[in-house]
Amino acid sequence: MPASTCAYVIALTLRDLGVTVIFGLVGIPVVDIAEEAINLGIRFIGFRNEQACSYAAGAYGFLTGKPGVCLLVGGPGVLHGLAGIGNCSANAFPSLFLAGSSETNLVGKGAFQELDAVSFLTPHTKLAVRPSSKEPDAVADAIRRAYHSCWAGRPGPTFVDLPADLIMDEVSQLPKQLLAAQMQSPAKPYPDPTIVSEAVKLLRRCSSPLVIVGKGAAYARAEVAINAFVSSRNVPFLPTPMGKGVVPDNSRLNASSARSTALKEADVILLLGARLNWILHFGQPPKFRPDVKIVQVDISVEELGRTNGIGEPSIGVVSDIGAFVEELHRRLNGWQAFSSIASQDTSSFLGKLSAATSKNEKAAKAKALTATVSGSTLTYQRAFHIIKETLHRLSPPEQGNIVYVSEGANTMDISRSLFPLHHPRQRLDAGTYATMGVGMGYSIAAYAAYNLPHGQLLQGKRKKIVALEGDSALGFSAMEIETMQRQKMPILIVVMNNSGVYHGDTANAKDWELLQKQTAMDEAGLDESGKKKGLRSTSLWYETRYEMLAEMVGGRGFFVRSEEELAHATRESYHEQEKVCVVNVVVEPGLGKSIGFAWQQKAKKGSGEV
Ligand code: ADP
Ligand code: MG
Repeated sequence: MPASTCAYVIALTLRDLGVTVIFGLVGIPVVDIAEEAINLGIRFIGFRNEQACSYAAGAYGFLTGKPGVCLLVGGPGVLHGLAGIGNCSANAFPSLFLAGSSETNLVGKGAFQELDAVSFLTPHTKLAVRPSSKEPDAVADAIRRAYHSCWAGRPGPTFVDLPADLIMDEVSQLPKQLLAAQMQSPAKPYPDPTIVSEAVKLLRRCSSPLVIVGKGAAYARAEVAINAFVSSRNVPFLPTPMGKGVVPDNSRLNASSARSTALKEADVILLLGARLNWILHFGQPPKFRPDVKIVQVDISVEELGRTNGIGEPSIGVVSDIGAFVEELHRRLNGWQAFSSIASQDTSSFLGKLSAATSKNEKAAKAKALTATVSGSTLTYQRAFHIIKETLHRLSPPEQGNIVYVSEGANTMDISRSLFPLHHPRQRLDAGTYATMGVGMGYSIAAYAAYNLPHGQLLQGKRKKIVALEGDSALGFSAMEIETMQRQKMPILIVVMNNSGVYHGDTANAKDWELLQKQTAMDEAGLDESGKKKGLRSTSLWYETRYEMLAEMVGGRGFFVRSEEELAHATRESYHEQEKVCVVNVVVEPGLGKSIGFAWQQKAKKGSGEV
């Protein structure tokens, strides 16, 4: 073999594992790994910040069902990447992180970017290792084991530390393991038949069953089984934010618009790949019935012991979601939760769900359908309505050609219910960890997962990635817009610009020039309520021109104030095949979810304390 270094062995090992994309940010010494990978035909997506690329690797793992791979420099690179490692761990995203580190003989002497990354990452990963030697077989073995471990069982992040002297070491032979076949996806656990029998008994006896579909069900690709079960057994279902689309949102059994009623009234809940954490109010009263019986299905046995605070789940099943639901469906032959889903009396479970749905949908639609008065600012609801209507005319939701990424407190919460999904794994948001700043990395990951480089079409289809971003959320990784354009990813980024974090800062936004003067001279006094005038913690620069971030790399930017401008910008951006697009929509500060309420109450009472 030609003279080469261990960097080549590392790249070859990844290629033979079936890795086709690496998300990363290079420096010495990992640049050699990236270069060898590119020469072997692996797509290297180079980011501007390790945080964004570590988020991307996790989202890619979730969307493709195979580990996302992330390459980082050591020390500070690993520290920045910890953001994504923690995020992958919290969300159970399969992801392999590789990072460089100091030369082995310099450890402890203050070497370049020195960090004991294995110790540092051990608590945050499923496995953190350094190859046992520089031998090609040892290096390949460490990478293969870490790749397998992040994928098997409950997915999560794993880590391989690669010292500089190892990466640069000259090798004279390739690892024997490379002759091994590409790694197969991990075996699925099947449910214990006696436990399925218990679940069958419980369902046959109950009166108000509910299925909760979590992102574990989406990751498990259990959509065929769950759709068959829900629709032929007439069981209402409730998706979690990233479980959306496993069953199409337009199903008549969708209880999303009656979420509180569904959780409060259900006597048996089939919990499919979702945890009873803050997203589901820990499964406790008053949100849930005190006597609710929960059949919890999870690939992780530890999760079953962590249930709703009342004790063990009524029935805990360690199983792949699809395998369990198929078996349950078969064993419940002939059973239906409700013989008909139409015309229920209002005291029944279905009747209550339907009444709550009508009431809530009417309220939600009111704002979306209220046209903006000429000269006034768009509301979130109205802006989303216009974006949705425009996109749906161009690509009906049944076709599933649009993948949504959404983050920012108001932007994420309000948009969640306004954009219906008909297909699974087409919506990414801040997730289990409520991580803000994931949007740019997730959008790049979604593009890479669903489209081939440079406009080649995957399975004959191209998917448009639409990122709905709060202005604050975008700011975490806005420089990745350059990455998108460099990688020829015509992603559509909508910025909901309320000039601030959460609700922004109405008072100051209205008199921005004065505020700037006051801040400069530091002579802002107190207002009548005892609140200091000047910048608040939620203030951002007033009406920042985020669309120029697209223009700086030859992409397309739209500054939008009116309904007509928004519809036009959305249409143009949807059709754009080559360029990244930023649609900067001005929405009024002060709208949407509020924070700092306790402070305001205190200020009103005149205490003036912060
Ligand atoms: P959500 O955010 O939708 O509530 P969570 O991330 O809290 O979802 O929960 C997802 C759960 O799904 C995790 O506990 C994870 O262990 C589980 N899971 C992941 N893959 C599978 C699978 N193939 N089969 C069963 N459970 C799975
Ligand atoms: Mg904002």
